[in-house]
Amino acid sequence: MYLKSLTLRGFKSFASATTLAFEPGITAIVGPNGSGKSNVVDALAWVMGEQGAKSLRGGKMEDVIFAGTTGRAPLGRAEVSLTIDNSDGVLPIDYTEVTISRTLFRAGGSEYAINGHSCRLLDVQELLSDTGMGREMHVIVGQGQLDQILQATPEIRRGFVEEAAGVLKHRRRKEKALRK
Ligand code: ATP
Ligand code: MG
Repeated sequence: MYLKSLTLRGFKSFASATTLAFEPGITAIVGPNGSGKSNVVDALAWVMGEQGAKSLRGGKMEDVIFAGTTGRAPLGRAEVSLTIDNSDGVLPIDYTEVTISRTLFRAGGSEYAINGHSCRLLDVQELLSDTGMGREMHVIVGQGQLDQILQATPEIRRGFVEEAAGVLKHRRRKEKALRK
C-alpha cells in the first residue's frame, strides 16, 4: 500500500485543481517559503478525517477553503482526494486503487466519499484503521516540533515515540476501559 496521488481543489492556497503524483518510497516536497508545502501536509491529514482546525493551522475548519487573493475571489468549497494503491490488499476493500475524498462547503455541510460513493467519516476512519494511516495513526511532525523533540525531557520524548509506535492508542483504550 502506498499513497499514489493527492488532488487539491480550493484547499488553502491551492485555488485551482492541483494533483501531486507520488511513487513508492520517500517523497520530498521542496519550495520557497509560503509556497504551500505545509498546506499539502494539511491536505493529507484533512482528507484522512482530521477534525481539529488547530491541527490544520487554522482557527476554524472553514479556514481550509481558499480565502481569495488580490487577483482571485474566494471559493465556496474545498475538496481533497487521496488515491491509495491497494494492490497488496492492506485496505479491507475489494479495489486495487482506493480514492478517499472530502469536501467542505463554505455555506455549511461536508461530504466524504470512497471511490466516488458518498460515505460517513466513520467509514473513512474504519477503512484506514489498522493500516498505520488515519486518525492518531500516521505521524505528522510539524515545523518546530523537531526542536521540541530535541529539547524535550525523557518523559515527553517517550510520549513521542509511543505515539509513533501506536502504543498511545492502546494506552488510552486501556485507561478508558479501567474507568468503566
Ligand atoms: P514555509 O517554508 O515557510 O514553511 P510553506 O511552503 O510550508 O512555507 P504553507 O504554510 O504551506 O507554506 O503556505 C502558506 C501560504 O498559504 C500563505 O501564503 C497563506 O496565505 C496561504 N494560505 C493558507 N490558507 C489559505 C486559504 N484558506 N486561502 C488562501 N491562501 C491560504
Ligand atoms: Mg511549512
